[in-house]
Amino acid sequence: MASVSINQVTKQFGAVSVIRGANLHVEDGELVVFVGPSGCGKSTLLRMIAGLEDISSGDIHIGDTMVNDIEPGDRGVAMVFQSYALYPHMSVQQNMSFGLRMNGNEKADTERRVQTAAKVLQLKPLLARLPKQLSGGQRQRVAIGRAIVREPQVFLFDEPLSNLDAELRVQMRVEIARLHKELQATMIYVTHDQTEAMTLADRIVVLRDGLIEQVGSPLELYHNPANAFVAGFIGSPR
Ligand code: ADP
Ligand code: MG
Repeated sequence: MASVSINQVTKQFGAVSVIRGANLHVEDGELVVFVGPSGCGKSTLLRMIAGLEDISSGDIHIGDTMVNDIEPGDRGVAMVFQSYALYPHMSVQQNMSFGLRMNGNEKADTERRVQTAAKVLQLKPLLARLPKQLSGGQRQRVAIGRAIVREPQVFLFDEPLSNLDAELRVQMRVEIARLHKELQATMIYVTHDQTEAMTLADRIVVLRDGLIEQVGSPLELYHNPANAFVAGFIGSPR
């Protein structure tokens, strides 16, 4: 796994500044959660790390490599999308192996990676099923499986649980925490759900209007919010 460094990163869409000078170091093996209201720039920052969005200024390092000009597929990152991004006509097995096969990955190695991911995610008995034959939680596990088989340096999640019902969200949250431990994975996780942030994060990054307001452990933010906005968002007694 690898660390991620974000240095003086900005993003403009036309005349609008949506990220206004972000600085952040995510340690190797850390699970960092981005929180903040809708439109504050969480997805944009994540997408710049993934390489899905160009950076207007600044730089991003993954491990020792400056990745500004590196294609998304070569950055060693894997992004987990919401589960509806599965291919409906492909089995679980095919959904997990498709990307690797398209990249020319050898068949035996692809099979080994799918088997490993299926074991970690408890999907082995479901490999032959189609997405429509799975529950919401199982589908979300397949979406995560597609990221795991790429053996990334960094996992990026953009509100992966937001289309699941409340009970499943809790189950999947536990699952992601377990994966984080088991794989010792560097993870950056976007959510607007305060409970998700407080229970999952090693550190929370609170964003507002394109600026990082505060970075700290859930307890630090809860007990020492930098301002009323953070206090309000984290739910501190103030
Ligand atoms: P969040 O994920 O925190 O809800 P986003 O990163 O999606 O926020 O969006 C941040 C801001 O950037 C919003 O004001 C949004 O409208 C704007 N934005 C996002 N993508 C684009 C785009 N491709 N073109 C123009 N504006 C965009
Ligand atoms: Mg978003």
